[in-house]
Amino acid sequence: MRQIKREVTIGNLTIGGNHPIAVQTMLNVPIEDLEGNVAQAKRCEQAGCQILRVTCPSAADAKVLAAVKQAVSIPIVADIHFDYRAALACVDAGVDKIRINPGTIGDADHVRQVALACRQKNNPMRNGGTAGRREKHILAKYGAPVPEAMVESALYHVHLLEKHDFDNIVISIKSSNVPRMMEAYRQLSARTDYPLHVGVTEAGTYQMGLLKSGMGIGGMLLEGIGDTIRVSLADEPEKEVEAGYNILRAVGFPVAGPEVITCPTCGRTQYPCTAIANEVERRLKGCKKSIKVAVMGCVVNGPGEAREADIGIAGGKGEAVLFVHGQPVRKLTGENILDQFMDEINKL
Ligand code: SF4
Repeated sequence: MRQIKREVTIGNLTIGGNHPIAVQTMLNVPIEDLEGNVAQAKRCEQAGCQILRVTCPSAADAKVLAAVKQAVSIPIVADIHFDYRAALACVDAGVDKIRINPGTIGDADHVRQVALACRQKNNPMRNGGTAGRREKHILAKYGAPVPEAMVESALYHVHLLEKHDFDNIVISIKSSNVPRMMEAYRQLSARTDYPLHVGVTEAGTYQMGLLKSGMGIGGMLLEGIGDTIRVSLADEPEKEVEAGYNILRAVGFPVAGPEVITCPTCGRTQYPCTAIANEVERRLKGCKKSIKVAVMGCVVNGPGEAREADIGIAGGKGEAVLFVHGQPVRKLTGENILDQFMDEINKL
């Protein structure tokens, strides 16, 4: 059962409440490359990204965020560390949300100025942190970045904003250690009704990052925790977006678009099952139909799975039986089983 949090609106998107879990990513082109950032932002939007974060190291860099904001129609989040003037410049530039830890700004008046500017533009802020960044007094109390310390740190940053009557807040509490991250989110969710941004930070290179994120983010979603997710991969942000949707799909959330299921193949497989499955998935990229497509290796276990799908094939020796909505329809034979199957999928 989902843990319902208060609603927070980021530009044209609302998270929290019963709103769908939003998938986000972050650009990784050097901030000096304005055109590169704009081009990558467009690719992320095309991939289905719903919230897009861009770093802003200094006030002068806000022009890059303004250009990105102009180029796409999804909400833009400015990622700020230390410099409150960068945050103010981004609010002026029209971004939709600020990601900042008020504790890193230092001066209370600077925090007040950022809170005021965000309130005037109805911009939410995301606070929180990672296991690697802890305040000295909290580290002294716990001695290590245990979940309790992470929660206390996140709530400390939230409190610094609440002191200025600011409560348009989203919280994150990431760690690269999956069990620690999960326990921290559990404890945090029990103590706050601010919506939660869930992710495993510094998850790693593509494969390990996918595994950790699948377990950590997927695990939290299965416990009902999470209002927006970001998969962190040392790779292109579009891949993070794709992985985010795949995690949502894997834990049972409705995701627009096709899902291809296939078997691992074994000694019984007598047609190019895996090659066909990969090619079907590739050709269906960008397809908006929410259909389940099965490509199964043989007629022993294949028909059962293929029947569960909207459309499927189960292979034989150089041929495949076509199933549509659970019913065997006909055999696909010859050199071009793949093309015949795609024709049938396109008829759905
Ligand atoms: S469906 Fe058939 S080919 Fe695929 S793994 Fe099962 S037995 Fe093997």
